Amino acid sequence: MKVTAAVARAPEADFSIEELEIDEPREDEILVRVVGVGLCHTDLVFKASQTIAPPAVFGHEGSGIVEKVGAAVRKVAPGDRVAITFRSCGTCPRCLKGDPAYCHTMPMLNYAGMRSDGTKALHGAGEDIASNFFGQSSFATHCLTYERNVVKVP
Ligand SMILES: [Zn+2]
Ligand SMILES: [Zn+2]
Repeated sequence: MKVTAAVARAPEADFSIEELEIDEPREDEILVRVVGVGLCHTDLVFKASQTIAPPAVFGHEGSGIVEKVGAAVRKVAPGDRVAITFRSCGTCPRCLKGDPAYCHTMPMLNYAGMRSDGTKALHGAGEDIASNFFGQSSFATHCLTYERNVVKVP
């Protein structure tokens, strides 16, 4: 489906507001219609440093309403309101100890700019756009996220 996103293309340039294509949610993914998102220094540091190669969609403090869920998702359903936080694996020793912020796969799940299989969830005209920032990339009208980084809210 089409989404409108704030795309980081160059360190010093403003975000570029563009229409992109977002993938349909995979079986473990949740499509959220973003209602609000914070702009954090972390977003700007990643944009300036190009640690994730541009073009990229950042945004890691999203919130919104679930629109669609993959077949394996049980935690939320369409219509649920969610706040979106960082992503963790849930199976490494640190996650099992209750310290998901120190998850062994934190970099891959949060700062790789892609899914763990190397695919990107956002596509422009003839190019893939770095996605999955903090398991969300919520500087967009919609984002794809996961059970472990959404929190249901009233
Ligand atoms: Zn932040
Ligand atoms: Zn973990």
